[in-house]
Amino acid sequence: MSGRTLLTFERVSKVFSARRGVFSALTRAPAPDTRAVDGVSLTIARGETFGLVGESGCGKSTLARIAAGLITPTEGAVRFTGARGRAPRVQMIFQDPFSSLNPRWRVGRIIAEPIRVHRLRAPSAVGARVAELLAQVGLPAGDAEKFPQEFSGGQCQRISIARALAGEPDFLILDEPTSALDVSVQAQILTLLLDLQARLGLTCLFITHNLAVARALAGRTAVMYLGEIVELNDTETLFSHARHPYTRLLIDAAPDLDAQDRTLHPIPGDIAGAAPGGCRFHPRCPRAQARCRIEAPALEADVRCHFPIEP
Ligand code: SF4
Repeated sequence: MSGRTLLTFERVSKVFSARRGVFSALTRAPAPDTRAVDGVSLTIARGETFGLVGESGCGKSTLARIAAGLITPTEGAVRFTGARGRAPRVQMIFQDPFSSLNPRWRVGRIIAEPIRVHRLRAPSAVGARVAELLAQVGLPAGDAEKFPQEFSGGQCQRISIARALAGEPDFLILDEPTSALDVSVQAQILTLLLDLQARLGLTCLFITHNLAVARALAGRTAVMYLGEIVELNDTETLFSHARHPYTRLLIDAAPDLDAQDRTLHPIPGDIAGAAPGGCRFHPRCPRAQARCRIEAPALEADVRCHFPIEP
């Protein structure tokens, strides 16, 4: 990693307390808590796009919401540095662009809201700034007068991106921003994000279940499994020399973004509800040995595995 650190996760954990269900009420057994994120430590540098990859249920969206301040960690802390003496501005782009835009507001008002909240322009300059942001995401200025329901999914995601940029974020979190879109539209949004990244030098946390998407955008990538980081490296090295068996399976499952058929091939076995003892991945791991069922591996040299794949 190069550059100044903007964001540090220090041994961040999040436990969700389970509500007592019918079974636990009848058996009087305590309902198990869910440790969605477990002792995650990592840093993100200013200007970096950091990828966070894993299947649904691995804890990546919980980690993103902790970074956005939407969830408080049970243990550990998230620290911002270098936000120029004020509270850091964090913006988030969600998977479903339709539900994240207020259907009763015109697009111009939606995009203007963060500008007004953070007082980033004089009131008389807000309209011009909205037009500029619409142009940055490839939409005409006249779209400011329309309502979200007049747009396609891809266009709504462009509006979400414009709204996020309007807040001039120190840190931008993108949570599966293309996965609800058609394949051809996904490529257009990825191209737009690449272009904005290059032009604006954004610092981003990019969350995806698709390693090929992370490869297109992220300089470094961490792979999460059941709340833990299992491998972290610069994205190209992760692709060319994956050392954790789970990373290898994710790469094999990822479709080629240039291919016509971009079906994501599922990894055998289900992500377990509660973390098993020993290595959490052992029930699904093709390399598992007796030691893996007993002893949990630590994250050493950026890989969490007793028997990593040799380069
Ligand atoms: Fe597989 Fe064992 Fe490595 Fe876990 S520690 S990933 S089970 S080889």
